[in-house]
Amino acid sequence: MYAISAETCGVKVEQVALDENFDVDYLAVELAVNAPDSQIKIVFLCAPNNPTGNMLDKEKLVTLLQATKGKALIVADEAYIEFCPALSQADLIKDHENLVITRTLSKAFALASIRCGFTIAQKSVIEMMSKVIAPYPVPEPVAQIATQALSAQGLETMRERVAILNNNRMVLASSLEKLPALRKYFQQQETLY
Ligand SMILES: *Cc1c(COP(=O)(O)O)cnc(C)c1O
Repeated sequence: MYAISAETCGVKVEQVALDENFDVDYLAVELAVNAPDSQIKIVFLCAPNNPTGNMLDKEKLVTLLQATKGKALIVADEAYIEFCPALSQADLIKDHENLVITRTLSKAFALASIRCGFTIAQKSVIEMMSKVIAPYPVPEPVAQIATQALSAQGLETMRERVAILNNNRMVLASSLEKLPALRKYFQQQETLY
């Protein structure tokens, strides 16, 4: 979708291949951003990744943030982070002006139809976004539902749902592992949840 939206706005897209473990190739991203003729202003990373489920490596992310500071915004798409909240990169925001985290109510909150998400970043980034955002971007009924979803009770409901889904994932994984046709099951970082 990022590529489609970029191309719709006439913005060129460059893709950097994942490594053999389907992880982000941090050095390749850094080299692409810092290439002499680079026009890259924004990098999208997805964690947990859709569809691989892979996470970002905090240390390598910090190195990338430092190496691309002042050149590119690094966006971590955390659409699924509620399924492994301990692995969020949100703690890095305070020290890194070029880190932007995006979240959505579409997944763990089960509210895809209200089309609502949010951005976590330093004030300077949010101020820049406020200048270009559409006027009145959030319909009032959406704001009301989102406020409920993010209340203490809404968060509790979300966490109960996440616990059920994470448990279902383990059931599915153990069933899949018994299939003779299965070649490799990529382990999740279960212990960190
Ligand atoms: C679902 C999803 C989103 C959020 O989509 P919405 O437009 O907020 O519904 C963002 N990134 C990824 C990787 C997703 O899977």
